[in-house]
Amino acid sequence: MQLYTKILIGLAAGTAVGLAANVAGIEGLKNLLVEVEPVGTAFIRLITMIVIPLVVASLMVGTASLGDLRKLGRIGGKTVVYYFVTTALAVCLGLLLSNIIQPGNGVDPATRDQLASRYEGEAQGRMQIAAGAPSLKDVLLNMIPRNPVQAAADFELLPLIFFSVIFGAAISLLPQDQRGAVVTFFEGINGASMVVIGWVMKLAPYAVFALIASVVAQFGLDLLQSLLVYSITVIAGLAIHTFVTTALLVRFAAGLNPVVFFKRIFPVQIFGFSTSSSSATLPLTMSRAQSELGISKEVSSFVLPLGATINMDGTALYQAVAVMFIAQIYGIPLSLTAQITVVITATLASIGAAGVPSAGLITLIIVLQSVGLGDKVEAGIALILGVDRILDMLRTATNITGDLSCAAFIARTEGEALDPTVLASRAA
Ligand code: ASP
Repeated sequence: MQLYTKILIGLAAGTAVGLAANVAGIEGLKNLLVEVEPVGTAFIRLITMIVIPLVVASLMVGTASLGDLRKLGRIGGKTVVYYFVTTALAVCLGLLLSNIIQPGNGVDPATRDQLASRYEGEAQGRMQIAAGAPSLKDVLLNMIPRNPVQAAADFELLPLIFFSVIFGAAISLLPQDQRGAVVTFFEGINGASMVVIGWVMKLAPYAVFALIASVVAQFGLDLLQSLLVYSITVIAGLAIHTFVTTALLVRFAAGLNPVVFFKRIFPVQIFGFSTSSSSATLPLTMSRAQSELGISKEVSSFVLPLGATINMDGTALYQAVAVMFIAQIYGIPLSLTAQITVVITATLASIGAAGVPSAGLITLIIVLQSVGLGDKVEAGIALILGVDRILDMLRTATNITGDLSCAAFIARTEGEALDPTVLASRAA
C-alpha cells in the first residue's frame, strides 16, 4: 500500500475515533487519545529537526549553481510579487464573503458574552505572546542576521534564508575547484536530509492518527453551533481560494493541469492540515515539489522556504473574516476605508506570522488594532478561539498550496518543463 493511502487511512481513522469519543462522551477513550498525542508531537519534532540542514544546504546548492546572479534577482522579484498579489486576493475574498454572509450578525449577545468569557483566560495568554511580537519594521530589520548560527538555533528562517542566499551567491563566483568542493559538501547534506525525511515519513500515518484523534476528541462541538456561520465563511473562503483562484493560477500561470497538481501535492496538504505548521511541513513540501512536480532545486529551495515563512494566503483570508465577524458581532460597522486597511495589514501581517500553529491568531491582533478594534481584541480573540485549531489546520493547507503553486509558476516562467507524465516516470 502506498504511503499516501496509509496517511489517508490515519486521517480517517483519527477523525472517526476522535469523533466517536467526543460525541459519545467516552471519557476513558478521550483521555487515551489525549495521551497518544505526544506520538504526533514527537513526529513533528523529527521532521522539524530536518528543516534547518535542509533549507541551508538546498539553498546553498540552489543559489551556487544558478550560474547567473541576475536570475536570482528575477526569481526573488517574481516570487515576492506572486506572494503579495495572491495574499491580497485571498483577503479580498474573505472580505467579500463576510459582507455577503454577515457571519457576526446572527449571534445573539448572550451567546457572544458566554463564548467570550469561556476563553477569557486563554485569550489573555495570547495577548501576552503578542505583546512580545516584533513590529513590521523589526521583522524587516531582523531579516539580516547578526549571527547565522544564532538564527538557525532560534529557528528564524527568514534571516537564515537571507544568509544562505548571499553565501550561495558568493560560492557561485568562486573558482571551479573551490566551488565544486563546497557544492559537493552541501549536496551531501541535502541528500542525507532527504533520506531522513524518507525514514520519518514512514511514521506519518501513525502521527497523523494521533494528532487528529486528540484534536477531534477535545473539540468543543457545542461551540461549533454558535460559530458555525463564521466557520463556514472561513472554510468556504479557503476552499474557493484553493480550488478556484489557485487552481486557475496553476492552470494559466504555471501551465499545469490543476487536477494533476492537486493529486500530487495531496499528501503535503494532509500533512500541513495535521500539523498546522507550514514550517514543519517544509521538508515534505520541498521533496514533493522536486520529485512529483519536477520543480528544480534552484527554484524550490528558494521559493518554498520563503513561502513557508512569508506567504500565508489562508491565514490572511481567515484574518479578514475574523475581523469582520468580530466587528459585526459587536455592531461596529467597518467602512470601505477600514476594509482596505484590512487588505493592507492582513497582507503585511502574514509576513510577520511564523509558520507554526496559531501564529495567525497572534498577528490578527495587529489587524484588529489597525481598524480601531483595539478595545475588542481580547474579547474578540476569546470569541473565536474555540474553533481556531480546526480552522488553523485548514488555513495551513491553503498556505502550503499557495507556496507550491508559486514554485510551479516560477519554474514554468524560468523555462523548466513541468510535464507531469514525464515526471511520473522520472519519480518512479
Ligand atoms: N499555522 C499556520 C501555518 O503554519 C499559520 C497560522 O495561520 O496560524 O501556516
